[in-house]
Parts: sequence; structure tokens; C-alpha cells
Amino acid sequence: MHYLVTGGAGFVGSHVVLALRDAGHSVVVFDNLSTGHRAALPPDVPLIVGDLSDPARLNTVMEYERFDAVLHFAALSLVADSMRAPFTYLRHNYLNSLHLVELCVRHSIRRFVFSSTAALFGTPEQQPIMEDATVNPGSPYGESKFLIERVLHWAEKIHGLHSACLRYFNAAGSDPSGRAGEDHRPETHLIPLAIDTALGRRPRLSIFGSDYPTPDGTCVRDYIHVTDLARAHLAALEQIGTRSVTYNVGNTTGFSNLEVVRSVERVTGRRIDWCGADRRPGDPAILIAGSERLRRETGWTPHIAALDDIVETAYRWRLAHPDGYAPLPAMQDARVESRPVPAFSVPPVATAMHPPAPS
Ligand code: UDP
Repeated sequence: MHYLVTGGAGFVGSHVVLALRDAGHSVVVFDNLSTGHRAALPPDVPLIVGDLSDPARLNTVMEYERFDAVLHFAALSLVADSMRAPFTYLRHNYLNSLHLVELCVRHSIRRFVFSSTAALFGTPEQQPIMEDATVNPGSPYGESKFLIERVLHWAEKIHGLHSACLRYFNAAGSDPSGRAGEDHRPETHLIPLAIDTALGRRPRLSIFGSDYPTPDGTCVRDYIHVTDLARAHLAALEQIGTRSVTYNVGNTTGFSNLEVVRSVERVTGRRIDWCGADRRPGDPAILIAGSERLRRETGWTPHIAALDDIVETAYRWRLAHPDGYAPLPAMQDARVESRPVPAFSVPPVATAMHPPAPS
């Protein structure tokens, strides 16, 4: 099969590209390289550097090549950033995906795999979160992904485009044979930050929030190895010849942020200097996947399920790539704190709308 992969140079996308090729398929990657890396792709994978906000370019690609399916990863994906820049997230993720889905319909592509998110559940009372749980996004990021799921719903009903919406829990780890890894700039995710702190590349790790309703007061997440997540995409592709599916992709086990710190300490054999910090906006207290439907319908199960094993693969990649895919100026001093990304950020409503005090 021949697949178009948007965002294929990113963390999850690049691991899915490897899985597709390992299974004998050919891929073309469409990526604007805003967060992805050319070096994350095998050298013989065609990369079209383009932006989804430019449908004309994408249209040309689809006119030129016939794809059996599209796998769509390209998106802004940080919950906290979306709380600062909601319209940017909604516009970027929703409108760009709308263009993409329309083009799939126009070019008679019949299958579409979408990287959705557990963030669309908000903070549900029931854990683990079953695949039919109520959707109630707690952030513009989660909302933007849910809007795309709705676009896909109508694309199937009216145009017969079958889709798989995969609601990811926390993707982590790296390709076990070392071909790809995690390199976000700036890095905001807990496991790579904890590893860099253990390695002395950051002075200290901040743990956001200590008063959540969880056993140790820190957030609980379900970490799924990125290669297992990638395998779920192949399993989903096989399901969508004649129907659409929605699956949660997780390990069905939760770990608190402090448990993650202890896991990284075990794996690296080093102590992590961490401190408590304020809650991060938009973070739900607990996200644990119920992936029963995925397991039942496809036979998928995670192969690297233990947290220490997941961390181990991430650690090995970081040791082999201390500067990630390439040394960039921003990485030369690895101790710099994460910078707030969006230059497009607007003040929160409460500030922006506050009426002037009466004189
Ligand atoms: N987290 C933290 N310190 C950090 C980065 C993340 O305490 O420097 C917490 C974050 O608040 C959340 C958990 O780690 O509770 C997982 O966050 P991450 O960004 O890795 O993934 P997310 O759950 O947002 O997709």
C-alpha cells in the first residue's frame, strides 16, 4: 500500500512511518518541519516540506500520486499552549484538517487514520476511560481534535470516507532499535525532561501540581510505548475497509508524576532533583485508558508495557543522541528553561475584557 503521512517527521508520526515500512508499505511524508525533523525519517522516505494551511500544495501532491490512505498527525499538540492561544489551536488544527479531509474526498481516498487524543475526555469521573465515555474537552487542544472527529463523521456519512480515530494517551519511549526518538524543542514532556534532569542537562525538574485528587497528589497518566502506538495504526488501517472506528490507545495502567520520577531514577541509576510547582493550565488529574474495543476488535496488545521498559528505550535514545536529531542554537545550552512558544498568544479573556475602572 502507498500512504500519505502528514506530520510524519514528528515524534509519533516518524515511529508510524517506521512501522508502515517495516510492514512493507511505501510512504510519502508531508510535514512543515515546525516541530519535526528530517533526520527522524529514513533517508529514502520522500519528504514534502509543506504546510496544511496551503491546500493547493497538498492538492498537487494528491494529483501527482495515488494514495491508498492518509494518516494525519500534523497538529499543534500542547494542552497548556492551547490554554494561552485557543484560537490558534482551533484554527490550525481544525481548519487545516478540514482542508485535508476535503482533499481526500475530492481525490477519492477511502481511508483516513487520525491521531486524536485522550484530552477530549476532559476530567471524567470514571477511570479507566472507556471508548464510549462522554466527550467533554478540558482544553482548546482537546476541542480541536474532537471537531476533526466530527468532520470525519460527516465525511463518512456523506462521502464514504472511512476513518479510524485513535485517541492517544501519553506516547513515550523510542524505537527499540534506536532508529527514532523524542526530540521536541522546547521539550515539555515529563519523561524526556526527567531523563535530561537525571543526566545533569537540566538543573531541576518542576512537578506541576501536588493537590490533585490522586494518591500522591500529582497527576496520573497512562504511558503507551510509541512503537505500540504505531502498531495500533496498522491494526486500525485493517479495520476501516468498510467502516469507521474509534479506539483508545493506552496501557490501561496509570502512573503518577512522582512514580515516573522514581522510574527514571531506577532506569538511569541517578537521583533527580525535583521541586513542586503550580498546576499547569488544562491538565486533567487522571487519564487512564480503557482500550477494550481496540484489543477485542484487532487483537492489538502492547508489547512494551512496563513503565521502566518504556523509560529505558527513551533513555537509550537520549544517551545516543544527547542533542536530539541535530544541534541547534537553542539546544547548545541544554539547561535553558522551556520558553513559552506562541508569539501569537492573546491575553486571557478575563484580562482582555476587564472594563476600565470608573474615574
Ligand atoms: N509535567 C510536570 N513537569 C514537567 C512536564 C510535565 O509535572 O516539566 C506533568 C504534567 O503536568 C502532566 C504530566 O507531567 O501532569 C504529563 O505531562 P506531559 O506534558 O508529559 O504529557 P500530557 O499529559 O500533557 O500529554
